Amino acid sequence: MDLIDNHQIQQERSEPCSGTLYIVGTPIGNLGDLSPRAKSILKTVSLIACEDTRRSGQLLKIIKSKVPLLSYHKHNFKSRQSQLLKILENSGSLALISDAGLPGINDPGQELVHAARSNNYEVICIPGPCAATTALVISGLPSERFCFEGFLPKKQSLRKKRLENISQENRTTVIYESPHQLIKLLEDLSILCGKERPIQIARELTKRYEESIGKTIEEVTKYFNKNKPRGEFTIVLGGNNNNNQKNRITESEALNRLNILINQGEKSNIAAQKIAEETGYKKNWLYSKLHKSLDK
Ligand code: SAM
Repeated sequence: MDLIDNHQIQQERSEPCSGTLYIVGTPIGNLGDLSPRAKSILKTVSLIACEDTRRSGQLLKIIKSKVPLLSYHKHNFKSRQSQLLKILENSGSLALISDAGLPGINDPGQELVHAARSNNYEVICIPGPCAATTALVISGLPSERFCFEGFLPKKQSLRKKRLENISQENRTTVIYESPHQLIKLLEDLSILCGKERPIQIARELTKRYEESIGKTIEEVTKYFNKNKPRGEFTIVLGGNNNNNQKNRITESEALNRLNILINQGEKSNIAAQKIAEETGYKKNWLYSKLHKSLDK
């Protein structure tokens, strides 16, 4: 009954409203995921701000929308702001879309929403697909509480710090990563979280070759060492808890164990191999640290 009532209310509300900014979710692969309401807004607003006019132009062509497009991306969002607010000021309506998914989620949007709200314009979201929540709900990992990290920082020192924090997080964490960085990310997660930590990697969500790969860091690393990562990936990492903590040891503990084995008479390369398997640290890394400490 509630659903029907809500539906009727939506039907009665005539959209688009003047002086309103619509944040519109668009498909992350499958065009069938564009909602009828999103389609209708994209055909009737005064202007659509988008990341890439060529790319969004193709979407508008498919839905037969004649609404003009204006580029709005990370390199011009500041200069575009007043131009876009002017449309709302003149009682027009505005839609913001990104290349795919929900604007504002690792895509341009938050600054424009902030500016619109600061100037007392209405902001309404036409919800649509988002890779993070889509990957989360099919992961089989706890989803009642979760963290979204998006892309990790590029700068090495910041990336390392962020990964250390993620490894300590109790809640499930969602990360976006590019295909050519995926194996490096898995290697780093293996060291910090232990190779038994649950993980589920969603590839090409909603598309023809959609795949979901799990269940531990060790298993997915093996998989991607055999199958070169291609396409778009969303990583869902299980939280830190006592069960999956057992393999996580600090660098100095790992080196300590290595030295104990060697002092017991084990050859250094075999000892490094054994400790690598036990801890998730790379054999070559352990080996190089060992030699550095011998050189001192
Ligand atoms: N705003 C978008 C959203 O709501 O999902 C995210 C934009 S962000 C720039 C793009 C990243 O999202 C990709 O690099 C990938 O990590 C993830 N992603 C987007 N589409 C995906 C898909 N179909 N399957 C898996 N991950 C996807």
